[in-house]
Amino acid sequence: MTREPAEPRLLDYLISAGAIHSMAGQTYRSVGLRGAEIVAVSPDLHGLDDLASGDTAVVDAGDLTLLPAFADSHEHLMEASRNTLLVPVDKARSVAELTGMVAEAAQAAAPGGWILTSISWHESNLAEKRLPTLAELDAAVPDHPVLARRGGHLAVVNSAALAAAGIGADTPDPPGGKIGRLADGSRDGMLEGGAVYQVAAFAPGPGRAQLVGALGTGSAAYAALGVGTIREAMITVDELLAYQDAADRGLLNVRVRPMMRVGSELTEDAAIALIDGLGARSGFGDDWLRIWGLKLVLDGGVEGAAMEQPYANDPGNSGHLNWDPAAMTKVCTAAARRGWRIGTHAVGDRAVRTLLDVYEAVVAEVGPLPPWTLVIEHGMVTDAALRDRAVRSGFGVTVQYPVLWNMGSEMLDTWGPERTQRVTPLDQWVAAGADLAAGTDVVRPFNPMTNVWGMVTRGTKSAGVQGPEHAISVGTALELYTIGTAALNHEQDRLGSITPGKLADLVAYPLDPLAADPRDLAELSPVFTMVGGRATHDPRNWLAR
Ligand SMILES: [Zn+2]
Repeated sequence: MTREPAEPRLLDYLISAGAIHSMAGQTYRSVGLRGAEIVAVSPDLHGLDDLASGDTAVVDAGDLTLLPAFADSHEHLMEASRNTLLVPVDKARSVAELTGMVAEAAQAAAPGGWILTSISWHESNLAEKRLPTLAELDAAVPDHPVLARRGGHLAVVNSAALAAAGIGADTPDPPGGKIGRLADGSRDGMLEGGAVYQVAAFAPGPGRAQLVGALGTGSAAYAALGVGTIREAMITVDELLAYQDAADRGLLNVRVRPMMRVGSELTEDAAIALIDGLGARSGFGDDWLRIWGLKLVLDGGVEGAAMEQPYANDPGNSGHLNWDPAAMTKVCTAAARRGWRIGTHAVGDRAVRTLLDVYEAVVAEVGPLPPWTLVIEHGMVTDAALRDRAVRSGFGVTVQYPVLWNMGSEMLDTWGPERTQRVTPLDQWVAAGADLAAGTDVVRPFNPMTNVWGMVTRGTKSAGVQGPEHAISVGTALELYTIGTAALNHEQDRLGSITPGKLADLVAYPLDPLAADPRDLAELSPVFTMVGGRATHDPRNWLAR
């Protein structure tokens, strides 16, 4: 008996939709997928019907609009995932609630064990609109060290934490950091910049096995919002292993492009040794997990950004630079010679100017580098001269409107209205011809459509509209968030648009963002998300096979 060969399975999925915006200039009505890839597109609803077989899942999504899944150019998925394992003080709405949650965690902890909080809280969500004090934390938790990191650049601690880290009344501030004091010289419990890491080094966090599980659930929350790729904005070598475990076990629901931390606390030689020790170089990995490059942090956040002009609320302060420019130039030159891409956090205009000096010196040493090799992360406060210089020298910029959305009120207090209104002037960057890639950097799952709405309206969470003249169109915002990030990741031939031969990373919406009133985008959620032909978010089983 002979068996007929099985019918060639041409398509795994045939999806037809109201509109399929490629983000490469075309709009289709149907798309065919095989394995992890897009293999066919058609402007006709039924243009691919003859590629379907009995094994093809036919998805008739005539009311939906498909876009490439979002690619976040700068977000901290590891921190956001770890947060889910820590004391969830982001849910506190007063100082008393926050200290109460910390005290409760201390009761359950081993004697003397560290109490670590989620870092995605902010004092603006507390009734008192201020940080908890050392005295308040001491009263709540006298005998366990407490480290309450808030975002990436600030923390509050209790006396036990200062003692555990060996910080006394006379301990000097670390380079690029500040250990806060009250007017009488005693400690106030606030840590800024490098001081956060100085204390965090003593505080053991969740272990690798726990992190692996957290990355699975953490990445699922981003997939549920339509995200397909996250450029992971800073991890350690140990954390890279957790990512590799998660990828091996099929737990990742987004593609991850990690940046390896090169800390400013290192000497020049130690930084270069760390880079050498990484062994690989940028681009190592596979479609799910591929190392983007190195991450350096040149200045602080809202509280520590290096500015040309003093802070509005503190005329003696204009922020801080964490790196000596000459040392940073040597480290970056060595890294570029070894094939590493580098992204450097630079928020204030003085930091951006210093970073341009460093990057230009690197290019003078090693010669011209491909686009998106030396990258400015944030570049929030700039003027036309700095922007022109970045464009002329070929340094791309990752832009994160949600930081203004989230921290607009704090920026108004700290930097004043004039600088706040011109934070992340996307219209100016676009007009200057900059390489741009959009992302979030809020260290928790953030709806990309809220980000698009913000880029288009300049609306914020609690500071009203800031600098409406710097808005861009929905189409441009979507481009920066898809094809823009694919170029940043050196993957524009594999990702970023709905094009045959590229990976099948798609997101579906119940309305067409390019045709809708932008006001309707602020809370728009996806119907389904697919990464590499696999459903990563599909609560209504559109993609069930
Ligand atoms: Zn960041």
